[in-house]
Amino acid sequence: MIKVRPHFGTLKKSYNHTGDLHMGTKGRSIVGMDVDELIGILNRAFADEWLAHYQYWLGAKLAKGPMKDGVIAELLQHAADEMRHADMVSNRIIQLGGTPVLTPKAWYDHTNCGYDAPEDPYVRTLLEQNIKGEQCAITVYNSMLAETREKDPVTYNMVLQILQDEVEHEEDLQALQEDIELMLHRRS
Ligand code: FE
Ligand code: FE
Ligand code: MG
Repeated sequence: MIKVRPHFGTLKKSYNHTGDLHMGTKGRSIVGMDVDELIGILNRAFADEWLAHYQYWLGAKLAKGPMKDGVIAELLQHAADEMRHADMVSNRIIQLGGTPVLTPKAWYDHTNCGYDAPEDPYVRTLLEQNIKGEQCAITVYNSMLAETREKDPVTYNMVLQILQDEVEHEEDLQALQEDIELMLHRRS
């Protein structure tokens, strides 16, 4: 008979093998806002990060057009950053006694920024889609900063680190976009 692993969906939050509440009790008590609400906000960002990761990762595979080597290198770097962000956010969710969104299907129910399929592999289209995604991420993390400021310094610090990356991502993509425009339209 095949042994089936216990289904993680049945795990209650703040659960351990004895069934006692044990996770980060003091750490959670210093959070000056509704912890369940905070976990909900973090899970929306978590879904965003995975969708952003996949959008970059697949875009890098499909990219075609001028300066595609430079574009692919940047998209792959950002794909790795977004997965690292998913890692950071999920660690914080677990620290707070929550459960990260359990299925890829549910990413769509939680996401703020959605997913733009790289249907058109032309580099300029990919860059436009990903710039839009970064601008959404910047808006989301900026509002998370406002929500956690003076209420949860640990989440605030994590959000600030991620926001710094997203601001850098937007600028990297816009610089590439500018180089491509110069190459295509300035021939003297
Ligand atoms: Fe990110
Ligand atoms: Fe980003
Ligand atoms: Mg970059």
